[in-house]
Amino acid sequence: MPNEGARKPGEKLKQGRIAPANAEWIAEAGQMIRSGALVAFPTETVYGLGADATNGEAVARVFEAKGRPAFNPLIVHVLGLEQALIIGEFSPLARRLTEAFWPGPLTIVVPRTAKSDVSDLVSAGLPTVALRSPDHPVARALLAAAQRPLAAPSANRSGHVSATHAEHVAADLGDKAALILDAGPTSHGLESAVVSLVGETPVLLRPGAVTVEAIEVALGERLARETEASSTRPASPGQLLSHYAPRAALRLNAYEWGPNEAVLAFGGVAEKPARVFINLSPSGDLVEAAANLFAALRMLDASGAPTIAATPIPKHGLGEAINDRLKRAAAPRD
Ligand code: AMP
Ligand code: MG
Repeated sequence: MPNEGARKPGEKLKQGRIAPANAEWIAEAGQMIRSGALVAFPTETVYGLGADATNGEAVARVFEAKGRPAFNPLIVHVLGLEQALIIGEFSPLARRLTEAFWPGPLTIVVPRTAKSDVSDLVSAGLPTVALRSPDHPVARALLAAAQRPLAAPSANRSGHVSATHAEHVAADLGDKAALILDAGPTSHGLESAVVSLVGETPVLLRPGAVTVEAIEVALGERLARETEASSTRPASPGQLLSHYAPRAALRLNAYEWGPNEAVLAFGGVAEKPARVFINLSPSGDLVEAAANLFAALRMLDASGAPTIAATPIPKHGLGEAINDRLKRAAAPRD
């Protein structure tokens, strides 16, 4: 808690978790982020549900809180280009867009750097990352206080409309956020535009608060739409997800395995001879399992085992998204 003197006499948290976005509460929120908690905060588009992007378990809790049935990649919020360059590779075109629109409601998808310390789960296992520098003073003050990049999707349950008021966040996410910083209604109420600069041509992945025309003027060239580009390369995250699969064949709901197989275990499964054996969470914690999932898949695949045997994983909570990811990895390839 901020020291008592910092709050006006009688000032209480509304509905338990909504706090005024003043300097004291922002400092407190920054500490919460650093300790792995989730904080909802206003941006110029909609309210975001923020977590330390470098903390896999905090990121897993974002998916849990939103009740997402699959791991969609999340946007990472940064103060500016300096912080972004640690996480993503910026081509000259990407830099041109940041100069024109940052801070502001434009998200840029770029390849991840080798030195990026952002959790695999943020990118849902993809080799790319979505970055944006928000313009809202509270979002910026929180980024400065937390001194971490913030993974933050819209602060609403999966499938519900985005929240533009702190009260909507409270109603939708209940006690999932440790704190909701209230700075009144957000101004755009429309999500950021998302542009991919991963391939040779820039591709519009999502129209949003910055217009296509303005982006094209800044780029000095036409933006391909997702549909045009998808004939030559997978552009939408859904397509990308199905294209990313381990080289090894994956066997689901395995109870037995051979000594040459790689094993992806969960909970109290006994370790028996295998080429490699990784338990996502020996204590059976789905948050821990989600945080470890993508790194584990890569390690098992890198072992060179012909097959990966995955032991059963519960279907509730984050187990739904973990099972979804494993099912995609197990699906026959074309
Ligand atoms: P939201 O979670 O509502 O903030 O939406 C995030 C948007 O950014 C979605 O359209 C995602 O698909 C997109 N996105 C985030 N990361 C990536 C990525 N690495 N590649 C492609 N799209 C991404
Ligand atoms: Mg959303």
